[in-house]
Amino acid sequence: MSLLFLTFGCVPAPGTPDSGGLVGDSADLVDSADTGTGSLPDSTPLAEVDVVVIGTGAGGLGAAWAAREAGASVLVIERDERPGGASNNAGNYWAAGTPEQAAAGIVDSPEAALAEWATFTEGEATDPSVVAFVEASAGVVAWLQSVGVGFRLGDNVPADTGSVPRMHMLISGADPPPIQLAALLADHILYQTTATGLLLDGAGVAGLWVTTAEGAEAWVHAGATVVATGGFARNDAMVLSAVPALDTQAVWYEAWPGMDGNGLTLAAAADAGTQNLDHLGLYSHAVEDARVGQPEVMVVGALETALVVDAAGRRVADERLFGSVAMGRRFLTEGPFYAIFDDDLWAATRIQGRGFNYEGAPDDLELLGPEYAEKHGAAEGGDADALAAALGIDGAGLAATLERYNTDAASGLDAQFGKPTPTLAPLADAPFHGLPLVLGRAKSFGGLQTDEEGAVLDSSGAVIPGLYAAGEVCGFLGTPAIGYGLNGSVTSAWWSGLRAGAAAAAN
Ligand SMILES: Cc1cc2nc3c(=O)[nH]c(=O)nc-3n(C[C@H](O)[C@H](O)[C@H](O)COP(=O)(O)OP(=O)(O)OC[C@H]3O[C@@H](n4cnc5c(N)ncnc54)[C@H](O)[C@@H]3O)c2cc1C
Repeated sequence: MSLLFLTFGCVPAPGTPDSGGLVGDSADLVDSADTGTGSLPDSTPLAEVDVVVIGTGAGGLGAAWAAREAGASVLVIERDERPGGASNNAGNYWAAGTPEQAAAGIVDSPEAALAEWATFTEGEATDPSVVAFVEASAGVVAWLQSVGVGFRLGDNVPADTGSVPRMHMLISGADPPPIQLAALLADHILYQTTATGLLLDGAGVAGLWVTTAEGAEAWVHAGATVVATGGFARNDAMVLSAVPALDTQAVWYEAWPGMDGNGLTLAAAADAGTQNLDHLGLYSHAVEDARVGQPEVMVVGALETALVVDAAGRRVADERLFGSVAMGRRFLTEGPFYAIFDDDLWAATRIQGRGFNYEGAPDDLELLGPEYAEKHGAAEGGDADALAAALGIDGAGLAATLERYNTDAASGLDAQFGKPTPTLAPLADAPFHGLPLVLGRAKSFGGLQTDEEGAVLDSSGAVIPGLYAAGEVCGFLGTPAIGYGLNGSVTSAWWSGLRAGAAAAAN
């Protein structure tokens, strides 16, 4: 099938003059005689391309880039006014074997990361998609650098990343990578255009239905369609169906509002199979939004320097682990958990909103502990018993835990969980402060099932001709071998986009 780009060489961004003319007249079609239009709509398509991509997050833009590089005609549709989706919020990129690591004296390689993959993801390191991603991760960072994105290596080792620093952090001040990539792909992107259904043509997918910025229903004819619509952590029905145990938990969102899982619904019409849906990214490193009544979270900065206990007042883990999805899962059976601060630590604790829920640059996006208490309230007590009473947890348990923690901190040795200094420091300055942690629904490490090229498989495991997936909609890698996922998984969203785009172009 030879599909040709309809003549809208330049698609104006919303708000710019003359965003019309997207539907070229038939004279613009050089050749559509071989497209097998038997079951296709009679109307003129909005566009006719080799590859149509849904979404301008990391997955979608990666796919568009690779498809264009392969010489395909590409159209990306994005329902929002601006590009990037949740990907604009991702500042930490996982990669193994980068020049940044080498320059910092960190010995790492894809082989080393694969050797410990199962320990930090609970996934399967021999899976071809896992191997290909890990081997390509440094290349993804290098590719983003080559188009202008700046990174620096983080010196910490967050949970879910393995045993050496692998977190590559965006250099602040620049536009998020999707904004930069979207500028380079501007001629290919239609904003405020929403995919509403796949166009099924016999056994395969031949494009999709859209609602245009003007509210018109239209269709796009494409040789391959890449679904890159993001995750489903914001869709309560999908979340509860995947993880029924969440039914007993209060609803707290850490996910971007657009993570509504609509790509799963779109693909279901083609009988797409799913995998790993129950491996939801849940985190217990946050507290209620200070704006009372909002179901959003605010993340507690440097939670690893606090003491975290359960309702019996017992410490449950090295506090550094609370940045991991493993502790989110433990919250379901062992929670709720409570963060305890002494007065000094409380005064310096930064509690941060996620950003996308706030208009402009509000002064309540980041609050110090006392500011949070003023806006929202927080438990306070002159000693462990009083604080426990204010929190509604066991006082004797908290007193014993605090005493033991402070003894260990004074000796510099955490005999219980091995937390190192300086994160292990005495909490002795009364009054004490406490906050219940909440369980944030952040992202999804399951979704559409794909093959090693990013082609979507149907419920019987067969390839659905013409349909590909990338990013969170396929749980990042399209395979349950991602386990419970990794911190910095946005790298795999870009990677699976590049993979799907290349395969779609070759379709
Ligand atoms: C506050 C925050 C911080 C985060 N920090 C990190 C981090 O540091 N590191 C990390 O690895 N991950 C982080 N994540 C998670 C990460 O951002 C996501 O996992 C990743 O961006 C998913 O990329 P994606 O391309 O799959 O989806 P998205 O980036 O969400 O892109 C999907 C796009 O598809 C569009 N779309 C959806 N449906 C349609 C439709 N029907 N028609 C047209 N367009 C549609 C959406 O508007 C969106 O633009 C963070 C998430 C949040 C919310």
